[in-house]
Amino acid sequence: MTTDAREVQEPSAAQKEWQNLIAQTSDRVRNIVAEVIDRHAMDCVQRFYDVLLNNADAAPFLSNEIVDTRLRAALRRWLAELFSHDAPDAGVLVQTQQRIGAAHARIQIPIHVVMHGARLLKRKLRMFIQGLELVGTEYSMAIAYVEDMIDIAIEVMSLAFVQGTRKEVEVNEAFRLMSLGKDISLERETQRAALLEWGQSFLLDICYGGDSANTLSDSAFGLWLRHKGSVLFQGASEIDVVLKAVEHVDNDFVPRLVSERPVSPQAVKALQGALDEIHYMMDQLFKAAEAVENGRDPLTKTLSRRFLPTILGREVSLSLRRHIPFSVLMVDIDHFKSVNDTFGHVVGDSVLRYVAKILVAQCRMSDFIFRYGGEEFLVLLTEAAEEQAIQIAERIREAIERDSVLVVNGNNIHTTASFGIATFDGHPDYRHLIEDADRALYLAKAAGRNRYQVSKRCGSVFQTSGGIEEPLIDVLGL
Ligand code: GH3
Ligand code: MG
Ligand code: MG
Repeated sequence: MTTDAREVQEPSAAQKEWQNLIAQTSDRVRNIVAEVIDRHAMDCVQRFYDVLLNNADAAPFLSNEIVDTRLRAALRRWLAELFSHDAPDAGVLVQTQQRIGAAHARIQIPIHVVMHGARLLKRKLRMFIQGLELVGTEYSMAIAYVEDMIDIAIEVMSLAFVQGTRKEVEVNEAFRLMSLGKDISLERETQRAALLEWGQSFLLDICYGGDSANTLSDSAFGLWLRHKGSVLFQGASEIDVVLKAVEHVDNDFVPRLVSERPVSPQAVKALQGALDEIHYMMDQLFKAAEAVENGRDPLTKTLSRRFLPTILGREVSLSLRRHIPFSVLMVDIDHFKSVNDTFGHVVGDSVLRYVAKILVAQCRMSDFIFRYGGEEFLVLLTEAAEEQAIQIAERIREAIERDSVLVVNGNNIHTTASFGIATFDGHPDYRHLIEDADRALYLAKAAGRNRYQVSKRCGSVFQTSGGIEEPLIDVLGL
């Protein structure tokens, strides 16, 4: 929570500074620079690439053809937005830099490469401004404007980069810790016993006249919960509820029982009820932790989406290294809401498990199946080019359509699913691949559902399984 709050606040300081810089720069100076960009942006982009492609650290990120075409266009747009004729909106600029920084983090472009690029751009722009032979302070003001604008942009970008990288490291670390820790079930039993023991010894003390001073938060269970449980269940909202419930026991039930003589059965029952409640919540937390331990979604047993960046990132580098493509299927159950509405959530859950089972049965051992959202799955087909991805998608589609799921009140529930297919095209930011698959899925839905659609990024053409030609759609652009 605190990290999120900081993420929102920090850029706003940069935003204010940026706003001031823009406001203090005269229209004339801004227009001088904007005209330089109008005329020379392509030269700047060219210089940027000539140098960085010869830089051993930067070249691996830039040498791919698709990245090259995209980045050239994106860099040109970036310059035009930063140095627009009209005073740019600092808020919009901050958002752009944050997006770029986050993308750099996903690709893991080293920060020094970005800094190096920024220095090249500044030098090139300084040369062009020198060539204008400006008089008086205009020259120095134009130079300062260019340099400050680029510097702030890089600062905001770097902050987003660091935050993005830190998040990734945290998830990886959680993954590692969880997969290493083999004793969650042991921990569950130990804490269950500790909670039970506190309840029993407290009641014994009370009943036999002792004045038990040991509150639940001071007990072995309370200590564990505060220090270890909070770490183990980090991010789960139930942990706060459990901590509050423990406080409630200590502040309300304990004093009442301690002061009450003789102890009433109702008070004992009330305490037992509160402890049962804590027990239940702890069970839920442990169940979720066990699921995370295995990296799996508790309902469908498919992989948790949390580990998607780690696994996709790994597949991207493998594919780049070995020159073997992989594909992504975005699978979404059709009209799932009406299953819930007609038969209830429990039946809805069974349909989800059923579809997950078919996915597992139809995919290969080497594929990764993630629960991506509510009734959406993402399948990563390793070492599968488009043709093979289509075959697998069609196989899954047929299997889902063919078999009846289950019988409710004598009715067979049949279900279908739609598929978006995208094959890795060399762009190191896996986000593009997911977006492509998502867009293709959207088109499959629009074309009538129970079908697949292939994302054709380079040709900008989408093909459908029904052979329906969709209009050309340009999905290029960062
Ligand atoms: P479309 O064909 O366009 O995909 O329609 P849809 O009804 O499948 O899609 P929509 O997004 O309108 O509804 C998805 C529903 O999935 C809404 C939500 O209540 C339900 N859902 C999400 N997660 C779960 C879950 O874990 N269990 C159950 N039973 N339902 C879920
Ligand atoms: Mg759906
Ligand atoms: Mg959906």
